[in-house]
Amino acid sequence: MSEYEILKEKLFNEKKCGWESLNEEQKNIINTFGDEYIHFLSKCKTEREVIDFTKEILEKNAFTDIRQKMVIQPGDKVYYINRDKSVYIAVIGTDMLEAGLNIVGAHVDCPRLDLKPSPLYEDNGFAYFKTHYYGGIKKYQWTAIPLSIHGVIVKTNGEKVKINIGEDENDPIFTITDLLPHLAQEQLEKKLKEGISGEDLNLLIGSIPYGDDKTTEKVKLNILKILNEKYGIVESDLLSSEIELVPAFKARSLGFDKSMVAGYGQDDRACSYTGLRAILNINNPKKTAVCILSDKEEIGSMGNTGMESNVFDTFIAELLNKRGENRPNLLDKVFCNSRMLSADVDAALDPIYASVSERNNASFLGYGIGFNKYTGVKGKAGASDANAEYVAEIRAMLEKNEIPYQIGELGKVDVGGGGTIAYILANKGIDVIDCGVPVLSMHSPYEVTSKFDIYAAYRTYEAFMK
Ligand code: MN
Ligand code: MN
Repeated sequence: MSEYEILKEKLFNEKKCGWESLNEEQKNIINTFGDEYIHFLSKCKTEREVIDFTKEILEKNAFTDIRQKMVIQPGDKVYYINRDKSVYIAVIGTDMLEAGLNIVGAHVDCPRLDLKPSPLYEDNGFAYFKTHYYGGIKKYQWTAIPLSIHGVIVKTNGEKVKINIGEDENDPIFTITDLLPHLAQEQLEKKLKEGISGEDLNLLIGSIPYGDDKTTEKVKLNILKILNEKYGIVESDLLSSEIELVPAFKARSLGFDKSMVAGYGQDDRACSYTGLRAILNINNPKKTAVCILSDKEEIGSMGNTGMESNVFDTFIAELLNKRGENRPNLLDKVFCNSRMLSADVDAALDPIYASVSERNNASFLGYGIGFNKYTGVKGKAGASDANAEYVAEIRAMLEKNEIPYQIGELGKVDVGGGGTIAYILANKGIDVIDCGVPVLSMHSPYEVTSKFDIYAAYRTYEAFMK
């Protein structure tokens, strides 16, 4: 190498594809972890299913429901499940809680179609469910694909019926039909976002009539008869239900080289899964480690299972009480001394749509975990902008642990933008930075990530909480 090349190597921040420097053993570790993640994605398609899965894993790994403990000690592992849709997990440190927490926070809700409160109707010999989409979707992507039905129906006596149809090979699936191209001239002239209207996202669920000459709405009657026999419900029970339609396909390895993962719900289960796996490895940390899996991020984090609620504060206050540390206003101080990784996915540069990204400040698949110093829209509006001191601290941690990372922005200036739960925790006084797995086709029914980045995220969250 010439002296110039040596100088260049020393001074430049060259971005590098992570796969290039791996040996066979490292590749195997990454692929094995990727396969476990794929299994998780196929199994858990709603926030409730992720929380059920999480509870099972936590119980197997010596975590206890905080409500069962009167006193907590350093080394204790506890969790609190908020209404079956979000969870806060903690491993108590040897330092006082007052010294601050190391928090990794992800979300477990994903864009999808929800059923309306009165969803069932019949039209021209078909039975349908009416839907109301949840989160930022491109509506046309949700027609003409296999969909499964997941959720709960709660009867007035409190009995809860869990629904999961369309995942098992022997289950039927459901779909939303689209217009044939032969008759779609008018539709094809429309703007892409108007091609499919929200009120037309109606799920096809049956076509066999039941009844005699005098019976009306025979197909609807037949569907209700089937639902009644299978679940013991009547139409009005759907009024108190939460039923979600999600893509029925399984997550899979992608590419001849199997380097990537294709699957529904990777925003933000890529970070939820790796955050959860990471906290399982934390034993006797100095500072208390916390993992948040929150709900409702995709619609603004509102409601009592979203991050805007005070339930998280209540959980930390309970840790202070049961640790025998609490005194007036201590919670505020705990937060001011805390650090957080807002574990949410990042928009990767897509070569087909490279014009929306700015190469020098974009994240790439296979280049490691992606950081966003700030998010926001047009002039950083609404952004939680991480302080340079904190970014330096995180960089030092990553470099010490030889974890591949990249720092970018969500697209070009003024092209768009987005947000995460980061600002909510930053408002409490916590140092926060966004970091997660870069994704292609984000918010679509089949999102794409790199196994290399999934493993880098897992290592980042582990190192941070340790
Ligand atoms: Mn997200
Ligand atoms: Mn999202």
